[in-house]
Amino acid sequence: MKKLIVGNFKMNTVPSEFKAYAMSLATKTQNSKNDIVVCPPFTHLAVAREFLGGSRVEVGAQNISEEESGAFTGEISAKMIKDAGANYVIIGHSERRSKFKETDKLINKKIKTALASGLKVILCVGESLQTRQNKQTCAFVRKQIDDDLKGIYENELESVIVAYEPIWAIGTGKVATKSDIAKMVEIIRKEIALQYSEKAGNSIKVLYGGSININNYAKIISNPALDGALIGGACLDVDNFAVICRENY
Ligand code: PEP
Repeated sequence: MKKLIVGNFKMNTVPSEFKAYAMSLATKTQNSKNDIVVCPPFTHLAVAREFLGGSRVEVGAQNISEEESGAFTGEISAKMIKDAGANYVIIGHSERRSKFKETDKLINKKIKTALASGLKVILCVGESLQTRQNKQTCAFVRKQIDDDLKGIYENELESVIVAYEPIWAIGTGKVATKSDIAKMVEIIRKEIALQYSEKAGNSIKVLYGGSININNYAKIISNPALDGALIGGACLDVDNFAVICRENY
């Protein structure tokens, strides 16, 4: 089954290192049947366009401003990343939510701005360990979906991908179980079906992210409930990431 594999570089590497990475990934994924997206820092987008252009690998950014343009010193707009060659943007990553205090309201605005600029959105949702221990996971993730997608039209959901990323699994080496993942994917689809339609619930793409690595990736990503994966740490090694991208799921 064809999957969507997304790599999130976070704040790692410098543009000159990314050149070698991009050239290598382009070559190593030539025959992959999967859809592949890499999301490097903003400063790498020009390099990405130059060395991934024409390859199987598409490019995304890790964030955008909620504003379209104007007096917002230091911010990067959706139009800027689109013009720089990005087709995707990650919005609502748990690191943005917790370390930069991004609220669901802000995330909702960012999603609208991204969609209006023709970007595809990878919306991250997921619960903390405390929420999980309090058995509030389902309600918490359902509310994130509702708040983050408020006012977004059903036809726009074609450009939205939901990544279920339990916070306790990100960069910790702890991975959600196959049944946990299947359950949460179902919760997400049901919530979308409730807010939009059965068709929307069935067709939305749902990814899993959290401590996927070269040893556990095949088992996790081949889960038929999933449309693919969001990979942090393990995407930094081009050989390992290319293996994950080339796999026949
Ligand atoms: C992430 O940052 O989205 C992520 C899934 O990280 P890791 O794969 O390192 O857990």
